Amino acid sequence: MSHLTVENVSKTYASNTALYPINLALEQGELITLLGPSGCGKTTLLRIVAGFTAPSGGQVRLGGRDLTQLPAARRQMGMVFQAYSLFPNLSAEDNVRFGLKVRGVDKAASQQKLNRLFEMIGLSDMRQRFPHQLSGGQQQRVALARALAIEPQVLLLDEPLSALDAQVRLNLRDEIRRVQRETGTTTLFVTHDQEEALAISDRVAVMQQGRVAQLGTPEDIYCRPATPFVAEFVGTANCLDAVVTDPLRGLITVEGWAAPILVDAARPYPLGQRLKLYLRPEELRLGAEDAPGSLSGEVSDRRFLGSLTRLSVRVGPHILVTDLQGSAAGGFPLGTRVGVSFSPLAAQILAV
Ligand code: ATP
Repeated sequence: MSHLTVENVSKTYASNTALYPINLALEQGELITLLGPSGCGKTTLLRIVAGFTAPSGGQVRLGGRDLTQLPAARRQMGMVFQAYSLFPNLSAEDNVRFGLKVRGVDKAASQQKLNRLFEMIGLSDMRQRFPHQLSGGQQQRVALARALAIEPQVLLLDEPLSALDAQVRLNLRDEIRRVQRETGTTTLFVTHDQEEALAISDRVAVMQQGRVAQLGTPEDIYCRPATPFVAEFVGTANCLDAVVTDPLRGLITVEGWAAPILVDAARPYPLGQRLKLYLRPEELRLGAEDAPGSLSGEVSDRRFLGSLTRLSVRVGPHILVTDLQGSAAGGFPLGTRVGVSFSPLAAQILAV
């Protein structure tokens, strides 16, 4: 049996539907991310699980028990919000101690727990500081410790990293995952950042306008997107319109390209089927313009991004984006004529 289940949970406000019936099942210790653009319903779903918002329909179950009517305080869930939500007039230690006090944990036991939690978040030497004496990242660590202090059955994290700057964000992301694994806490994590979702999750639920468009492992979501929305929202994808011109051989013709190209996955589709063809930047190879089997193009833009350089190549009416590692991009200055190729297995296609 799954640990936390969301069964046909929906939410309608007077004039709009925030959530159509949603089903999700988290295994014990699993971290699932709700990923999607602003307004797709991530926070609404999280708040329903937490008990802060009543659903219009459906149930939330924990270990099989229906929690839908239970108030938030009795759900055994820990929550961390986007904005640092520590009590400003309490020290870091007292913030973390708060939940224990409310639950009547005795002093000695709570002291031991505090020691362990502060060690876990690496802030043992800052326990006496007040929130305004801590950086944003440190405050979020304390908020995480506070949420974990009550040994919650479920951890709910609503964009906990979005107010932090890039480096702190990456460090804390890894730290949250480490702590979550160490404690084995079933976790729902909300973000609109696809890279964050791929990096931290066991599974990702990509949400679109109040529905789950796809639920899968990060690899599923990135390598086998189920819909054009998922393919375009997660990662960078070159997206081309194409039509099947020879189903037996798996040949498709991309709009504006003279020669058909081979895409193994196109074989099951009938002649004339319209497709969207997705090519990830890292799947494209650049070589000599006249290399057999390649499409001829011209480098039209270059962006140096540190460990890689992102090149745009104009092929017919399309711009294809490709990433080259390290110094490899040096051989392709702006205006260079190139041949672009890719493995027929690397192309993802979806019928439209
Ligand atoms: P963001 O990433 O911007 O926080 P989100 O995916 O978390 O977005 P929600 O906050 O869950 O989105 O909102 C989902 C939809 O429900 C939106 O269209 C929003 O306007 C609507 N909504 C949320 N709360 C209310 C409310 N109290 N009354 C009416 N509509 C609401």
